[in-house]
Amino acid sequence: MSNENLVNVTIDGERVCVPQGETILHAALRAHIQIPRLCALGNDAGVGMCRVCVVEVKGQDALVTACNTPVAEGMDITTHSERIDASRRMSLSLILAEHGLNSTNYCFSCRKNGDCQLQAVCNALGVTEPAYPIPVQEKPHRDSNPFLEFDPNLCIRCQRCVVACNDRACNHTLHTAKRGARIAIEAPFGPDWDTTNCESCGCCAAACPTGAIIEKRRATYRSWEVTPVLTTCPHCGVGCQLELLVKDNRVVDTRAYHGASNKGLLCVKGRSASFDFVSSGDRLTTPLVKNHDTGEFEPASWDDALDLVARRFSELREEYGGDALAAFACSRSTDEDIYMLEKMARTAFRTNNVDNCARV
Ligand code: SF4
Ligand code: SF4
Ligand code: SF4
Repeated sequence: MSNENLVNVTIDGERVCVPQGETILHAALRAHIQIPRLCALGNDAGVGMCRVCVVEVKGQDALVTACNTPVAEGMDITTHSERIDASRRMSLSLILAEHGLNSTNYCFSCRKNGDCQLQAVCNALGVTEPAYPIPVQEKPHRDSNPFLEFDPNLCIRCQRCVVACNDRACNHTLHTAKRGARIAIEAPFGPDWDTTNCESCGCCAAACPTGAIIEKRRATYRSWEVTPVLTTCPHCGVGCQLELLVKDNRVVDTRAYHGASNKGLLCVKGRSASFDFVSSGDRLTTPLVKNHDTGEFEPASWDDALDLVARRFSELREEYGGDALAAFACSRSTDEDIYMLEKMARTAFRTNNVDNCARV
């Protein structure tokens, strides 16, 4: 990048050279300075809704939102001061005034407890209750989607879910209704959810900084009870990275990981259909061989089952030739297993009839 496209700014006394047009938030992150925020999704620009990321810019009277204010040459920025913290606390207090039924007690029973960014930012800034409690009429939940539900009472209207659905998952299903102070989220999880374009990918729930849009299976665990195990989604050839969340030796959930091919996103299969079978009671755990007298499948040892299969494949190959056989691999197998199956087909079966179902 040429020097004309770079600007010099000072953040908390540290000089940083950043690309023109970048936000103050991005510039601070480059300097490893964290700014609290709620409406900015990841390191993206925010919509300036929550006003938790306000900072001081020397020469400007008003505080500015770091998530959507571009840097300019010579800016002198302060990210932490008494004035800034007071403003952040005020914004959080106003957010809490409309949040939930009783935000301080509600955390205890909330499924997002321990994994909630609103809770974390409030804790960090010492905000424990709304300074201006107002009577709020409870709004109905939307929970017809098999994987996801929406509790509008916990929504802080940050619009991260809108960005996630429209700009990241590119589904354009979740949107806002009304304008200004009455803005509301229209999450497609009501009784007619299956007539919408919602693909149940869960990217909105992953983006939500509160418990407003949430995966239903969070009812089975709390964040501090699970151990993440990084793995590759077994469903197709894209190779999305995800974490399996393990509680008491059972996989209870998944979490998207920022992998090279998925950049923190998952589809419905990766997020909700890649782990239940691990502990399924229907899962075969031993080979079954059909008893030709009774017609029933009976448990067998691996040695017996493999000997039987090898003998029958050999007989078929000798009688009809290798092209009478084919190898078809399951997309939930690993690359290494599928490679071995293909090798066995070409060398032992003596056929090039190989295929795999991983092209959904
Ligand atoms: S969404 Fe977060 S802040 Fe709100 S009740 Fe749940 S844990 Fe508490
Ligand atoms: S549902 Fe969650 S992500 Fe969407 S606006 Fe409400 S709090 Fe923000
Ligand atoms: S589950 Fe996916 S498609 Fe459905 S509303 Fe959420 S982000 Fe959009």
